[in-house]
Amino acid sequence: MPQVPDIPDVPLEGLYGEVIIDHYRNPRHRSPVPDADIEAEEFNPFCGDAVALQLKLDATGRVAQVASHAQGCSIIQASASMMAEVVEGKTLDELGRLAQTFREMMQGKALPEDELAQLGQLEPLRAVRRYPVRVKCVLLPWTALEEGMQDFRGRRGAEG
Ligand code: ZN
Repeated sequence: MPQVPDIPDVPLEGLYGEVIIDHYRNPRHRSPVPDADIEAEEFNPFCGDAVALQLKLDATGRVAQVASHAQGCSIIQASASMMAEVVEGKTLDELGRLAQTFREMMQGKALPEDELAQLGQLEPLRAVRRYPVRVKCVLLPWTALEEGMQDFRGRRGAEG
């Protein structure tokens, strides 16, 4: 059995912990996206977390490319990387629903099985619910995503 080392701020064991640690150590989608349609940044002074997102949409409105950069605690870095993996190929409407479902799951709301199933690769982050102060870290990239989408829709609306 490989030993799972503690990450600095949240001890996480088991399979879920391993997934989170892997994303923390090897974050995905860090290369910048040129000519991004959506860009957003969020900051949480409580633990020094910062996240920056870039999304490029294709002609059908699906996410074609994503870049995700996080700094701060281990959880924000893992969450930003895991989010980058699930947003590809989705429309903004799908992402809006996913963000809402994910937020409800992290806040401890009981969700029907079919909604939980949609979370897929994000499920390991459930383990962080045991550390309420870190739930904010998990959700920060999703807050950035929601604000980025809102901003994009506003700009698109303004352009007519
Ligand atoms: Zn944090």
